[in-house]
Amino acid sequence: MAKEHQLSTQGVRAGTLRSEFQEHSEALFLTSSFVFDNAEQAATRFAGTEDGMVYTRYTNPTVSMFQARLAALEGAESCVATASGMAAILAAVMVHLKAGDHVVCSNAVFGATIQLFNNILGRFGVETSYVSPTKVDEWQQAVRKNTRLFFLETPSNPLTEVSDIEKLAKVAKSAGALLAVDNVFCTPILQRPLELGADLVIHSATKYIDGQGRVMGGAIAGSKKLVGEPMTAYLRTAGPALSPFNAWVLLKGLETLQLRMLAQSAAALELARWLEKHPKVARVHYPGLESHPQHALAQRQQRAAGAVLSFEVKGGRAGAWRVIDSTKLVSITANLGDVKTTIIHPATTTHGRISPEARAAAGIGDGLIRVAVGLEAVSDLQDDLERGLS
Ligand SMILES: *Cc1c(COP(=O)(O)O)cnc(C)c1O
Repeated sequence: MAKEHQLSTQGVRAGTLRSEFQEHSEALFLTSSFVFDNAEQAATRFAGTEDGMVYTRYTNPTVSMFQARLAALEGAESCVATASGMAAILAAVMVHLKAGDHVVCSNAVFGATIQLFNNILGRFGVETSYVSPTKVDEWQQAVRKNTRLFFLETPSNPLTEVSDIEKLAKVAKSAGALLAVDNVFCTPILQRPLELGADLVIHSATKYIDGQGRVMGGAIAGSKKLVGEPMTAYLRTAGPALSPFNAWVLLKGLETLQLRMLAQSAAALELARWLEKHPKVARVHYPGLESHPQHALAQRQQRAAGAVLSFEVKGGRAGAWRVIDSTKLVSITANLGDVKTTIIHPATTTHGRISPEARAAAGIGDGLIRVAVGLEAVSDLQDDLERGLS
């Protein structure tokens, strides 16, 4: 697809492959293997000297379409899809790290990511140091001779801290490390980390790319050298391939991604402004608010502030639980990225296994509530929250 096409066009058109039937909507190829014309073609496909489909663990036309479309949106040379977001993070580290390597990671990343680095990679001789997502000098100071990877997520969950991708890419480069950005909260519609110097972009497609809470999926985007070639080889051998059915759902999700991201971000900004003025709310964390410590950076780095916000109510845990339990519309669930608004109490759920001291140090208080804003009318969301606040 020509470079000059806008993101909205690429979301709808990029990567489309048509079969001999000339179907208009992208086809779902539910098949585990592909047939060859003759023994010689089988041999050349296996040898890799002829392009073409072999087996769905390697590649599948529906999965290829999803990969090509997401690559176009991220402005990436290549993209490889995986069974889930965690499978994408594992693929990135399995391909690019070895025993004896060191990782510098933001201390405000997805909980399972921290478990993966500590409990699994730790057993294979990869050590991880955790630093503040916003303090560039901490990343610089954490660098060792064997540091090979910087890993971050921006904005962070649930406090929406914004990392400076461009600055951290420079620090990573001078350290000889790759910078991987988990772009789940923004998607390429709001933020394109590769343009800012990141080497790898990681997705849980389960969230905004699907957008309607239906399937699991993941992806890694980047250059052919860092992603296309080695990750395809890894997937072929290690096996965490994306199912064609899920790829088809996610491909269709990409078609409405821009509309959803912009609408859900606009709704989140409206809700954040309302919460900030509410007498029962002590503080609102949302990069779109002028009061946010990295507001200017978010304005530069992102096209909109995203759909996730958090806020602190007075009265600690009891106050927060009252607001959550008084809702009738929004869903009480830890998931996010859905068109249905979700609400959760981080201190007793997503961050419940961290010690109270570590939680307090991370700024996750007992009165904190996280909301991932969907596509309902903002006035209905306000009514739903007002019941417990007042
Ligand atoms: C959900 C999530 C993941 C993990 O993705 P799965 O698809 O659930 O495996 C990773 N990073 C972030 C930021 C997420 O929100």
